[in-house]
Amino acid sequence: MTATHEAALLAAVPDGLLIGGRWRPAADGATLGVDDPATGEQVKQIADATVDDGVAALDAASDAFPSWSTTPARQRGEILRRAFDLVQERAEDLALLMTIEMGKPLAEARGEVAYGGEFLRWFAEEAPRVQGRYGANPEGSGRMTVTQHAVGPCFLITPWNFPLAMATRKIAPALAAGCTVVIKPAALTPLTTLYLARILEDAGVPAGVVNVVTTSRTAPVSEAIIRDPRLRKLSFTGSTPVGQRLLAQAADGVLRTSMELGGNAPFVVFDDADLDKAVDGAIAAKFRNIGQACTAANRFVVHRSVATEFTERVTERVRAFRSGRGTEEGVTIGPLIDDRAVEKTGALVADAVDRGATLCTGGEPAGGPGSFFPATVLADVPAGSDILREEIFGPVLAVVPFDDEDDAVRIANDTEYGLVSYVYTENLARGQRMIERLETGMMGLNVGVVSNAAAPFGGWKMSGLGREGGAEGIHEYLQTKYTLTPDPFA
Ligand code: NAD
Repeated sequence: MTATHEAALLAAVPDGLLIGGRWRPAADGATLGVDDPATGEQVKQIADATVDDGVAALDAASDAFPSWSTTPARQRGEILRRAFDLVQERAEDLALLMTIEMGKPLAEARGEVAYGGEFLRWFAEEAPRVQGRYGANPEGSGRMTVTQHAVGPCFLITPWNFPLAMATRKIAPALAAGCTVVIKPAALTPLTTLYLARILEDAGVPAGVVNVVTTSRTAPVSEAIIRDPRLRKLSFTGSTPVGQRLLAQAADGVLRTSMELGGNAPFVVFDDADLDKAVDGAIAAKFRNIGQACTAANRFVVHRSVATEFTERVTERVRAFRSGRGTEEGVTIGPLIDDRAVEKTGALVADAVDRGATLCTGGEPAGGPGSFFPATVLADVPAGSDILREEIFGPVLAVVPFDDEDDAVRIANDTEYGLVSYVYTENLARGQRMIERLETGMMGLNVGVVSNAAAPFGGWKMSGLGREGGAEGIHEYLQTKYTLTPDPFA
């Protein structure tokens, strides 16, 4: 990957707001800078939307809604399918952009292109499958018709950690259902969404159906859109505290909401687990995306009789990681998103060590340039440590020993979050008991990565509301109407 190639790609990314099919600067001409977290250097300046720009984007989405929602579902699906094909054609560009603005190694960025692209194909196929039903009421005095309708203009807010997949996971089902959207990517990683918007235009998405607002004035711009009575739906992926604030705003307009929030995933290893599989799964569940995934394993709950062997084996694997800019050959772990994240991760490790945890490897920030934190393993992390309660969002693997199955379930469920859990056991009945006992919306049984466009992704408890992907995903953007007609034979 040459510097000239990177410069050409960055130059090809639009730097404006996409509103009603037109790329344009912010109303007050303001711009915001996007940095490469591996170098700390700014790579591009883009438009920094004002409140008026946000409202103009909603104007465009509202104007486009009548025509898009009545476009035949097959036609909407075919446009999404073309977008899927274009994502495959431009996969290398998308992967490189994500590595530049977010820091994940190129191989992982390619994996995200495959995963993120899949939502376009999946919902292209779901668009024509939306069905209603018709039948007599039980009294026989009438006929009941149930139909599904697009909810209306939607506001989509995405986080920085999966810049492509979080956008396609919302845009694809919304468009498949007949909704129009305003999308606001995170200010830290907006370039992938801007590039995706160009792909959607090239695929034939009509003007006003997808509008992109990039902004550093996040709270006022978002609030103006959320409080506008024309908005019918808010879909948010991000942290739980921000999600709670937005839910309160959405309550005033009784908006439909989907909330994909934080996680604190337990990764439970029983004494009857296949340790080879458990170690492989642990590395994937913890270090994918440099630990910055809502699905990242946060607490490794390991049976006391295998805890030492498990910890030694993951430590050996972690010591072999190569850290660096994700574009470099052989790099397996990139930087964190910014220096604040480095500080927070360091503080969580220090708190655990102060309370008596054993530091097996890593632990000390590498220092600049770039926001690097070394892959870290902690053993015997005592109950009460901050790292067990908070979402780490960094490359730290924290092991907590347990003694029996009830103990494992108690520790695993001891969190306000409920996004995903991982369990390793070769005992089928035990695996089934864990499916019934763990309080999470998703579970990997002898598997370390669960994300799949065909599956309903989402959490229990404070990890969120609603599901993205699967047959369920499109229903987040549909509303039901029941119509009663008289008995036609009466
Ligand atoms: P964040 O909550 O800080 O930001 C998420 C988005 O909300 C960004 O676009 C941000 O600009 C915007 N935002 C922030 N403050 C806002 C406000 N006051 N009003 C309106 N919008 C606002 O989260 P983040 O740091 O970008 O992402 C990390 C978090 O996202 C983690 O907690 C992670 O678990 C979660 N996440 C969840 C899922 C999931 O599917 N459950 C997926 C990925 C990330």
